[in-house]
Amino acid sequence: MPLDEYKRKRDFSKTPEPAGKVAARKGRERYFCVQKHLASHLHYDFRLEHNGVLLSWAVPKGPSLDPKTRRLAMQTEDHPFDYGDFEGVIPEGYGAGIVMLWDKGTWTPEVDDVDAAIRKGDLKFTLNGYKLKGSWVLVRTSGRYPGARGGSGDSARSWLLIKHRDDWSGDLDITEFAPRSVKSDGDFEDILGQDMPAVWQSNRPAKGGDAGAMLAQIIERAARLKAERAGTRSARQPEAPEPKKTTRSTRTAKTRKAKRTS
Ligand code: MN
Repeated sequence: MPLDEYKRKRDFSKTPEPAGKVAARKGRERYFCVQKHLASHLHYDFRLEHNGVLLSWAVPKGPSLDPKTRRLAMQTEDHPFDYGDFEGVIPEGYGAGIVMLWDKGTWTPEVDDVDAAIRKGDLKFTLNGYKLKGSWVLVRTSGRYPGARGGSGDSARSWLLIKHRDDWSGDLDITEFAPRSVKSDGDFEDILGQDMPAVWQSNRPAKGGDAGAMLAQIIERAARLKAERAGTRSARQPEAPEPKKTTRSTRTAKTRKAKRTS
């Protein structure tokens, strides 16, 4: 069944991620997105819509516009179509961390049969996103690529994401040049500032290494942003009561509290 692995890995009472449906939408351009995900490690989740789900690869260093730079892309479980718009904080469990919608747009296969291309391990395609455009290829490496060795079965999941030379290639470091969200225009701290999980006081998703250091800084900046916003609000309208918010983050926080006390 499609999305079985996606659903098995998640507890939807604890994550704001969509539970997910298979989309039946034909006769429309295919969606693609890249989600920048600070979890135990920073990576970029590259997703291509196909057969109603999002085929997914985790790209540790993110896409490169330089055709000479091949980026390791580990294939991960298919994601539901409605995941493609997700941005937010996963408080705990699988993938705990911060997800930013880093790029989105449409894609066009440069082959007739996408399934056959995936089986063969050589999928050529054109992207039309905000940041990524032009011709690209995903090539399966059969685990020969150094650094691709992980647990058993990982070799079949190891691919390379490579930019073809065209008008959209170049030596611009796109992850450095355009680091922010195409959905909110925010950075990780802005996203976290909207919804800081209480559980992170005691148990942060990334503690050690680069990701841990990065997350510690982001938590600090998010807290400062939040304090600044609160300060500006009360300075401007000292009498005004806090507006009642019914955003998803508020509901999620309530649900979490209810869960913990029950
Ligand atoms: Mn991820």
